[in-house]
Amino acid sequence: MPFGKTSVPCDPVSRLPSKTEEQAFAKIWAEIDAKATAEEAAAAQVATERAKAEEYGFTYPVDATQGVPFEEALAWTVGCSGPGKRGYKDVNKFRAWLARAEYSYLDTGRITRKGFDLVLQGERARQREYQANWKRTFRDTHLEEQAPTNHCLECGENLRRPNARYCSTKCKQVAYRKRHRYG
Ligand SMILES: [Zn+2]
Repeated sequence: MPFGKTSVPCDPVSRLPSKTEEQAFAKIWAEIDAKATAEEAAAAQVATERAKAEEYGFTYPVDATQGVPFEEALAWTVGCSGPGKRGYKDVNKFRAWLARAEYSYLDTGRITRKGFDLVLQGERARQREYQANWKRTFRDTHLEEQAPTNHCLECGENLRRPNARYCSTKCKQVAYRKRHRYG
């Protein structure tokens, strides 16, 4: 029956909702809650992306009108590449470096000075970590040679074989993975 056609419409608070009404309300509220949750998540996502864009010297949303093309940025790269540190002369090599560093705005083909400095910082940190790891490995190997131990270097378990370093293949692999995480 269409609304308004009843002679005396029920006061909505004067009775308990029927089973059908309860189910309908539950469904409606579930939909409203889900929508609100989705909207909150989307807003949080935008906030995160906005903050990141600003960190990289862009304004949100990032498009291909901001910053400078990679070609122009080549001048900044002096001191950022390998031995001799002459920087990049070739756009494709610069792009490949950015891709390796997981630069987020690669698709725009553009970068800001601020963004470049961030990527460079990250890459240098990664390199330092790699070198520290390498040194640690070297030192560990050295220590092992100087002072043979009868404990597994990974888990500390007593070793049965006198010249072994690890109690099991498993420990050996775990230790290897730790050493070569950045290799
Ligand atoms: Zn072990």
